[in-house]
Amino acid sequence: MIRSLSAEKKQARFLKGDRLVANSVAGRGRVTQSSGLHAPQMGNSIERPPNAFLLQTPSKWDTHPLKTPQTILWFTLAQTAKLNQKGRWERTIINTRTDLGDCTDAEWQVRVDLAAAHRLAVHYGYHEGIDNHFTALVPGHVDRFLLAPFGLHWSEIRARDFLVVDFSGNVLSGVGPVEDTAFYIHAPVHAARPDIACVMHTHMPYATALSMLEVPELLMASQNAIGFAGLVAHCDYLGFALDSGEGRRMATALGDKPVLLLRNHGVVVTGTSVADAFNALYFFERAAMAQILAQSSRQKLRLVPEPALSLTIEQYKTSAKVEGLARTDLHFAALKRMLDRSGSDYGQ
Ligand SMILES: [Zn+2]
Repeated sequence: MIRSLSAEKKQARFLKGDRLVANSVAGRGRVTQSSGLHAPQMGNSIERPPNAFLLQTPSKWDTHPLKTPQTILWFTLAQTAKLNQKGRWERTIINTRTDLGDCTDAEWQVRVDLAAAHRLAVHYGYHEGIDNHFTALVPGHVDRFLLAPFGLHWSEIRARDFLVVDFSGNVLSGVGPVEDTAFYIHAPVHAARPDIACVMHTHMPYATALSMLEVPELLMASQNAIGFAGLVAHCDYLGFALDSGEGRRMATALGDKPVLLLRNHGVVVTGTSVADAFNALYFFERAAMAQILAQSSRQKLRLVPEPALSLTIEQYKTSAKVEGLARTDLHFAALKRMLDRSGSDYGQ
């Protein structure tokens, strides 16, 4: 079933026939009965509220007297959780892999990696709670991508949770809200760059601090920074990305580079795989951190002189593999093992 991205339809699409289907994600806190709506009941589906049909079309939802923050919250939580016998919201499991329809082995692997990337972003402090976004093309397609439903904390995102969203904003599979800026940034970038498989947007601290400088450039003053020589594009800040024009502007600014530094905002880092993108995200933040720390000393930075600079740039190009294995893959595999040792459920 194809569903629209619009905010109204995001609410309306929670309704499937006469029953409200609970999602697989975690809820927090309680929902009080209000506005005549029934609180969610036990089980994976919830009886349709008496007036729910009024919420099934955007126009009706727009004018409906029950459209309050409380009822929107009710529908959101009803969609994402169930109430257990103790009256507390708990995680449910519905979108197991067997429920993901035509999910291929390749798509499942990307889902696992993308979920791991979210968890790792939490580990390293790159995330902002439920905000910022990582997306990956669905393998075998160049017109749709995986995106976590908005509202999940990055520490709880699992492989099964991702939505499949196309470049028109239709949710092709999965249940949950599509955050507007996620769609408006990532869809144009994926559309403009079919050569990249993964797009990561964060406000991670040191890269964002770099973006705030009058001259927001990664200086060729450290080995990690040289790894990004000639690979970073820039674009000015014009406010929230709330239309596709802003995303297209970012995609144009990115051009054929892998990294876009968004002035006064953060970064967009891309890669040919989730592992490739996360590796770049990790080392870009490391390079930015070293620069910001060095600049904090108020001493003049010493740039790497020639010919060492040119030599190092070339060495980066020829040292991407170790005994035939990509450094990026080895790095990401090691990071996933770190998650595995902690008992993380990202791969579920
Ligand atoms: Zn942002």
